[in-house]
Amino acid sequence: MKVLLVYAHPEPRSLNGSLKDFSVERLESAGHVVQVSDLYAMKWKASLDANDSIERSDNARFDPSADSKHAFESGLQSEDIAREQQKLLWADAVILQFPLWWFSMPAILKGWVERVFAYGFAYGVGEHSDTRWGDRYGDGTLAGKRAMLLVTAGGWESHYGSRGINGPIDDILFPIHHGILYYPGFDVLPPFVIYRTSRMDETRYADTCEALANRLDSLWTTTPIRFRPQNAGAYEIPALTLRADIAPEQSGFAAHIG
Ligand SMILES: Cc1cc2nc3c(=O)[nH]c(=O)nc-3n(C[C@H](O)[C@H](O)[C@H](O)COP(=O)(O)OP(=O)(O)OC[C@H]3O[C@@H](n4cnc5c(N)ncnc54)[C@H](O)[C@@H]3O)c2cc1C
Repeated sequence: MKVLLVYAHPEPRSLNGSLKDFSVERLESAGHVVQVSDLYAMKWKASLDANDSIERSDNARFDPSADSKHAFESGLQSEDIAREQQKLLWADAVILQFPLWWFSMPAILKGWVERVFAYGFAYGVGEHSDTRWGDRYGDGTLAGKRAMLLVTAGGWESHYGSRGINGPIDDILFPIHHGILYYPGFDVLPPFVIYRTSRMDETRYADTCEALANRLDSLWTTTPIRFRPQNAGAYEIPALTLRADIAPEQSGFAAHIG
């Protein structure tokens, strides 16, 4: 199988750097083909702007969505964007690896998403009408592929528990899992989260690698998070709210998991 690892940490000698190297070795030794997008090493341009299209007239008003659509459809995307899209199309599974910074992904990775997940590629796909609201949340360009987050966090596991002060980790990661990965079609696997990183030592590192190895070995068999597909009848269209008879006692993020 083919795996794309999108990696966002500025220091190769970090915990994340070690875990990235471990993951690549583990996957390759199991016979998988791995590509790594090491965003800092690539000096990835994080900001979405008018320079993302080539052959653009200097004085035209920049419209982030419309320009993205035009560039994607006309083969006018900047080369770095097109190359990452090709890697996504190539991959059977995608791993996003990053340290949790301010309760989300580092800006460089957010910028990778903003630029690579272009209009026509990751959004604005499929029929949009009063009865169909595009190919997304279960359908889309990346349907049939798997995705998993590999995240390190300074906070303790209890800080991210159901009553933890930081809020539950499933809620914190929901916008990435559901809004970024499920939206263009990925089957999203439960995340691999390493908490309390400042307490890492050789013994714990070895245990962490063993647990991570199990997750990498089962990348193809792990049951994805059961997000509700948009186009299978659970949602009213065009309101895009969950039908009143489905999980009537639930609201918020959890309602979108069946
Ligand atoms: C801007 C910013 C915002 C942040 N926001 C949050 C937040 O919102 N929530 C939160 O929980 N945390 C937050 N943090 C903390 C952050 O998530 C952690 O610092 C990060 O996940 C640690 O990962 P690292 O790769 O940088 O670890 P490192 O700092 O490189 O390493 C962590 C520990 O692992 C050890 N280690 C490294 N490699 C190995 C190895 N091969 N074998 C054994 N031990 C090893 C190191 O010696 C060190 O003790 C934030 C940090 C920053 C800088």
